[in-house]
Amino acid sequence: MTARLTDAERRELTATLRKRRQTLGAEIAHKVEAQDNPALLTLRNRMEETDDWAVADLETALDIAEVSRDTVELREVDAALTRMRDGTYGDCVECGQAIPYARLAANPSAARCIACQERAEAALRRGPPASL
Ligand SMILES: [Zn+2]
Repeated sequence: MTARLTDAERRELTATLRKRRQTLGAEIAHKVEAQDNPALLTLRNRMEETDDWAVADLETALDIAEVSRDTVELREVDAALTRMRDGTYGDCVECGQAIPYARLAANPSAARCIACQERAEAALRRGPPASL
């Protein structure tokens, strides 16, 4: 059984999560704002005039992909902060084993121990089960 987190470790991870949350929030706000950026609008108008829709569509798609990557991470950080408040932070959401501090220090929003994370990722790669 891996040792539970100490209070100091917990405080440090909470601070890291809060800081990450702020950074992500600012990044998302900035990117969403950029969607209405006059320069981007000018570019879009030019694309419409030149009928170069493919590029305009591609650019919009890229912007959205970047924003959604950030929102996915923000959700993970939020979930980690909720677990911190619940007192379940640091326990694997799958098997309940304590997640080692080294793993949390590298990835404070980690919800699973390495074994469960690898299983979850392998399942994702395989895709959904054929029959369920
Ligand atoms: Zn686990």
